Amino acid sequence: MVEGGGRVALVTGGNRGIGAACAVALAAAGDRVAVASRGGDAPDGMYGVRLDVTSAEGVDKAFAEVEAELGPVEVLVSNAGITRDTLLLTMSESEFQEVLDTNLLGAYRVAKRAARGMLRMRRGRLIFISSVSAMVGSPGQSNYAASKAGLIGFSRSLARELAPRGITSNVVAPGPVRTDMTDALTDAQRDNMVNQVPARRMGEPEDVAALVAFLASPQASYITGAVIPVDGGLGMGH
Ligand code: NAD
Repeated sequence: MVEGGGRVALVTGGNRGIGAACAVALAAAGDRVAVASRGGDAPDGMYGVRLDVTSAEGVDKAFAEVEAELGPVEVLVSNAGITRDTLLLTMSESEFQEVLDTNLLGAYRVAKRAARGMLRMRRGRLIFISSVSAMVGSPGQSNYAASKAGLIGFSRSLARELAPRGITSNVVAPGPVRTDMTDALTDAQRDNMVNQVPARRMGEPEDVAALVAFLASPQASYITGAVIPVDGGLGMGH
């Protein structure tokens, strides 16, 4: 059961990690939150909906379900993302395409569907979870960094298209954050990352969620086209 009369927020990949923390932060701010994931389950008090960002048809179906159950989506957190890390010469075309299809085209699919309702309401918040690697690059992640850099041009174009209609579009660029994604790395890879972070620690999903909740809030209505790092200083503002 999703109670309350707040705005409707949808978080892709909201079942774990950074997405789950965003869902919790938005619910705490009073939003009615739809947690969109391939499994479709959600914690108590949130609405679970099955959504795979690689299918435009599936995205449309999930949004239609959320609209019918909760109302039009006013806050979109496009968070679903994958990695397929390997160095360039061993990276297959399908590994490159798969990452682009989820991380960049997936964001296009959900943003396009969400914008429809936002344009009708003449208000909305599009928030894309990118990565510090979009700006500084990352060995073994040329596919991932390309997809995350693509989000910046995508979001800024939407910011220009949609600002006159009361819709903001912003990018959040986390550095290394403690989630399943970074748990998959070796200790040596993680240590190497942390050593490059001026704050000398990994971020927590809540560090990212706090910024997402702010960007979704009424106080952030004049912020659009921004790329905001949450990275312990790793990208030094980039
Ligand atoms: P995670 O692997 O725990 O979460 C990724 C989420 O995306 C999961 O819920 C997963 O099910 C979902 N997902 C993947 N493919 C999907 C698809 N086709 N359709 C729907 N959902 C799909 O990792 P995380 O660290 O929480 O990552 C969340 C976002 O933050 C990702 O976009 C990631 O690239 C980004 N990010 C993470 C870090 C980090 O260090 N953890 C750093 C920078 C950016």
